[in-house]
Amino acid sequence: MDNLFGEPLAPPPRPAGPVAVVAVEQAIDRDLDYSIPAKFVKDLAVGQRVRVPLGRGNKAAFGYVVQLRDHSDYKTLKALEGVDDSRTLIIPEILELARWMSRYYCTPLGTVLESVIPSAVKKRVGVRTQWIVRPGTQADLAIALAKVKNSKRRAILQSLIAMPPDESMTLDELAEQAGTSPASVRKLADSGLLHLTREHNFGFEMPDAPEHIPLAGHDLTDQQQFALDQIIGRIDANRFSVNLLHGVTGSGKTEVYLRAIGRIVEKGQQAIVLVPEISLTPQTARRFTERFPKVAVLHSGLTATDRHWHWRRIASGEAQVVVGARSAVFAPMPNLGLIIIDEEHEGSYKQETAPRYHARDVAIKRAHTLGVPVVLGSATPSLEMYYRARANSAQRDAASRTRVESSSEVHLSAESRIPLLPLGGGGEEVSGKAAASSANPPAADGTYYYLALDSRVTANPLPKVELVDLRDANRGRPGVHMLTPYLEKAIARTLEAGHQVILLLNRRGYASYVCCSSCKEPIQCPYCAVSMTYHRHEGMHGSARAADAAALGDLRCHYCLNTSKLPATCPTCGKKLSLFGLGTQRVEEELERKFPGVAYARMDSDTMRQSSDYERVLGDFAAGRIKILTGTQMIAKGLDFPNVTLVGVISGDTALMLPDFRAAERTFQLITQVAGRAGRGDKPGLVIVQTFMPHDPTIQAASRHDYESFANRELQMRREVHLPPFSRMARIVLRDMDAGKLEELSKKIGDELQTAAKELGDITIQGPTPCPIGRISGYFRNQIQMYSPLASNLQKLLAILRKHGSIMRGDRIAIDVDPISLL
Ligand code: ADP
Ligand code: ZN
Repeated sequence: MDNLFGEPLAPPPRPAGPVAVVAVEQAIDRDLDYSIPAKFVKDLAVGQRVRVPLGRGNKAAFGYVVQLRDHSDYKTLKALEGVDDSRTLIIPEILELARWMSRYYCTPLGTVLESVIPSAVKKRVGVRTQWIVRPGTQADLAIALAKVKNSKRRAILQSLIAMPPDESMTLDELAEQAGTSPASVRKLADSGLLHLTREHNFGFEMPDAPEHIPLAGHDLTDQQQFALDQIIGRIDANRFSVNLLHGVTGSGKTEVYLRAIGRIVEKGQQAIVLVPEISLTPQTARRFTERFPKVAVLHSGLTATDRHWHWRRIASGEAQVVVGARSAVFAPMPNLGLIIIDEEHEGSYKQETAPRYHARDVAIKRAHTLGVPVVLGSATPSLEMYYRARANSAQRDAASRTRVESSSEVHLSAESRIPLLPLGGGGEEVSGKAAASSANPPAADGTYYYLALDSRVTANPLPKVELVDLRDANRGRPGVHMLTPYLEKAIARTLEAGHQVILLLNRRGYASYVCCSSCKEPIQCPYCAVSMTYHRHEGMHGSARAADAAALGDLRCHYCLNTSKLPATCPTCGKKLSLFGLGTQRVEEELERKFPGVAYARMDSDTMRQSSDYERVLGDFAAGRIKILTGTQMIAKGLDFPNVTLVGVISGDTALMLPDFRAAERTFQLITQVAGRAGRGDKPGLVIVQTFMPHDPTIQAASRHDYESFANRELQMRREVHLPPFSRMARIVLRDMDAGKLEELSKKIGDELQTAAKELGDITIQGPTPCPIGRISGYFRNQIQMYSPLASNLQKLLAILRKHGSIMRGDRIAIDVDPISLL
């Protein structure tokens, strides 16, 4: 082949031709090149879901087109098999975010995209594919009618002629009208008398939104106004910022969110509001739908069809606001202007399966890329966010301190020896294939702001908190008592006054372990290194006699969900078994005994199976049909019932002793959050916390609503031992059914990490050691923990092992960057 100048062209180094780079859904840690058959070339686009042959057997697999190129570096390519969905499911902005997640969370891109696209959308749930008929020209139809004798055909032609121009009908409708079969209608398509197209439609009409009356907001308090002005200023500056709105429970944070969104909507942009678990807080979602006409709600209680429908409204730009749980951070809004994360500290923002992402951190990354603000709201901010916001504010305002943004007590920033730790890492770039340009999120210093709302909007102050010492409160009382006499009396008084009560016990079941009275062996799950929890069958109350326990309930493992019968006697020594440890079912039983006839409800994951359960119970509680609401942390959050004047915490220290450095932080958060449910109306509230550790500084600080001294003390301790936020952390959990193989694998990975860490420097590696829960579902478990002052160091470390291919084994190795669960 010659070119115009008669010189031979160099042969193309690689086979030329269009190539699709595909991230397949099977967790394969690299993108694959496929050649594009001619028939797809024209319409294939980045973001589409496609079908490709995979592996030696060319099994059909699905994946997403993540890039289109004109050549491949590989000599031979398999051909793309088909386009599964002609829509662009992944917009460029989200694809970029997913690539960052793939690097940052050390997860194959295909696995990340699996989390990004709701499966209802992928499967086109609720969408009907229909053949739509449009008539040919009237002239053609008239000519044909004059010629045709066949009565069926004549009927079809007559129907087509009768159709108003520019209208369409489904194939089935037309066939029915003409009294014939769809197949007969189809035959006319070849002659050009009608045109057939395939269209995708929801098989139902969504009801029109009820006429919308925007509710007027309240007059803001000075603090609300100040916070709002700051946020609006940053919205209008069109710049990235993270605004930590630290507002005590009932301080009107939601009102601030609503106003900020109002500004976004005025600008013709959209906002995302993340809430921890929306079915728990239908009230929250309602406040947004009341204020804005076009709200899309995404939560686990939706049917797949509704979920798909909402997603389409989001993608089309119709929805102004999305309110949703964790994965709503990926909502494909075309012109996103603000992301709000309510209860920023909540653990449910972290996904516990791959990709192990934290929705708050992903939101911050997304906002940074777009150059828009984030608002993080909490009464009990995570220490990571609190530290950074205070430190940034202190730094920035060192010269001109303002009332709200600084405090003379907190000097966490400039003078600290530990460098400030921008979210997601330092500015340095990571080298290597897995770490292209933006492996690390922005060095975000200077972009975090601290905004405080330190009093409630209502006249009432925060409720008084009283501590009851469990070491002597029940002394001399026969039997088991969850409620001390003091709490019992307070409940009685509250009920007499016609008010309502919330009782928290963050443990489900009846007894958290069953133990032999003689050999003291607790009954363990055969597959997990944890003791089994005894659960009563629902509705079985009455008998407290241990002898009846086997008939009334069974044993359950909270980790692998295995259940078994309660043995009559100890399997080890044959002696009598006793029930120990508290659970919500036991609270329920005690309420029946001590407050007979008083309507109560129990909310935990055993009784709340679907979102209609929450709505029913919360509806009954709001209407006053239920007087006492008891349950796990589910009842601690977000609920706003003005008639609740008493909150009882059955055991304030359940979480305090867990082998996790965040145990104190979680305890403080839980007590503060549940306490915040009391006295929200015009009647003052009381909180009673029962504890074995009344002098513990965390419990003490919680009883004084004193976040600041809790945080300062805890931060001081973390600083001394270099724990987050004073270091970044990653954790690898290795598992195997065979203990020997696990040791082998752990040693190999441990050695590789040590070697790589030495080269990089400034990284501490702990382990391999057995996990606190050494066995789950038959798998033995080891962990390796990595710490470094710089996230970018950990990123480099993981990238090195990733390149070797040694850690990308989802079946046996779980990589958790910025872990929050350490069991
Ligand atoms: P938070 O989210 O901080 O717990 P909310 O936003 O739920 O607080 O506000 C608590 C209650 O106070 C809500 O019922 C809300 O409607 C009301 N509220 C909020 N702001 C004001 C205000 N400025 N004046 C009067 N009531 C307000
Ligand atoms: Zn188990």
